[in-house]
Amino acid sequence: MKDLIFLTYSEIKTKLNEGSLSSKELVLAYIKRIEEADTKVKAFLEFNKDRILSQAEESDNRRKAGKLLSEFDGIPIGIKDNICISGEITSCSSHILENFRSPYDASVIQKLKDKGFVLFPRLNMDEFAMGSSTENSAFQTTRNPFDTNRIPGGSSGGSAAAVAASMLPVSLGSDTGGSIRQPAALCGIWGLKPTYGRVSRYGLVAYASSLDQIGPFSNDLQGISDLLEIISGLDHKDQTTAKVNAFETNSVSSIDWKGKRIGVMKTDEFNFSPDVNKRYMDILKEVESKGATLVPLDFSLLKYAIPVYYLIATAECSSNLSRFDGIRYGLRKEGTGKLDDLYSESRTQGFGPEVKRRILLGTFSLSSGYYDAYYGKAQKARVLIRKQYAEFFKSVDIIFQPTSPTTAFKVGEKTKDPIQMYQADILTTSVNLAGVPAISCPAGLDSGNLPIGLQITSSHFDETKLLSYAKSISELEICKLPLPIEIS
Ligand code: GLN
Repeated sequence: MKDLIFLTYSEIKTKLNEGSLSSKELVLAYIKRIEEADTKVKAFLEFNKDRILSQAEESDNRRKAGKLLSEFDGIPIGIKDNICISGEITSCSSHILENFRSPYDASVIQKLKDKGFVLFPRLNMDEFAMGSSTENSAFQTTRNPFDTNRIPGGSSGGSAAAVAASMLPVSLGSDTGGSIRQPAALCGIWGLKPTYGRVSRYGLVAYASSLDQIGPFSNDLQGISDLLEIISGLDHKDQTTAKVNAFETNSVSSIDWKGKRIGVMKTDEFNFSPDVNKRYMDILKEVESKGATLVPLDFSLLKYAIPVYYLIATAECSSNLSRFDGIRYGLRKEGTGKLDDLYSESRTQGFGPEVKRRILLGTFSLSSGYYDAYYGKAQKARVLIRKQYAEFFKSVDIIFQPTSPTTAFKVGEKTKDPIQMYQADILTTSVNLAGVPAISCPAGLDSGNLPIGLQITSSHFDETKLLSYAKSISELEICKLPLPIEIS
């Protein structure tokens, strides 16, 4: 039999349900893998063997008693450290929440528990989900399993690396400006950002509330669609969830490329690495040869996506993070004993440099006298970007772009220059600004054996179409999943 850790999500689901594999056997195999591989990859911030094993045993007992909670009962899933699980620490990879234990479950966690998933907390991330490389974690830098001298992407780098390193079949992350799609691309796996409003944010520690969405990573596409069906839906605890038709995993099927209009970008306007560019062109040629029509779109508004995103995201974060004041949550540093000192000492010692940079930027752009010039203008530009996508979808069925302009960069390569780091999000941020859904699909390896991702974007709440195109992409030889890999 294939080594258990190298099974795909779908193979695991089948074996568990036909009774040829127990959850405990599977979980023990993953624990062994994590103990060996995570010394190099560093995806986990914490890993409690006993709590994980007891969930697997409970699932096996339910199976024996004929009382399964669902067809997903016993499947292991990793959780990013900004999604609250009752009784577990939720640190957001920050010193300020280092010892904070969540008193409740996020809505997505409740849904996973109801189905019998075995939860594996806690996966590393950039502090408060701010970053593109996982180097902003206060605790450790996660490494790319394809080359441990390189970053896995971010901010959900731990969630992506754990799946790519065969330490788990699926995981959850969050995406504010690319934090699921970019690490999925750099780690050679699948990663989906759902439509804004599709998935409840209740219990997700807020970074930028008008942009944040929780979404899945998986080593196969079935894992993405199953998880989307499970975690999505209207939630009275999150007023931004939408009342729309439920997404159903069975609605996804391969498409016939004939006559499909694929929106594409002119890559010469962007600084893509030659290998990323070539793979993008090769994929486009292939779908064209199968009968699709390529429609060049004018992405000139994209050059505003980074400044607009960083103005809006930092403004919202400065407000969201004001709750971490040393009184209500986490770290408290008394200072001289005066209240103002307590606030400033707790925040000075609790937050890392990138978080402070963003709070300062956001506070500045919201301050009176500057509000109209910066935040107000960014909001207007956001409306234009949103309208631009609506226009695109009048003339095309779907949009294909690379997910990231380059493959994984070296640890330390961009840490000295935040602007260069922000450029890593050039292709992902506009999707969050518009609120549309997008997925990163594995698209083979570059000449240095590093993964490339293809980003597919559809219109609001059309995840069925999005995942149907993704399914057809997964059937192309050049887009085969590059796993499993040796970790070097
Ligand atoms: N890299 C982007 C940022 O730093 C996106 C992060 C995210 O999606 N959480 O804000």
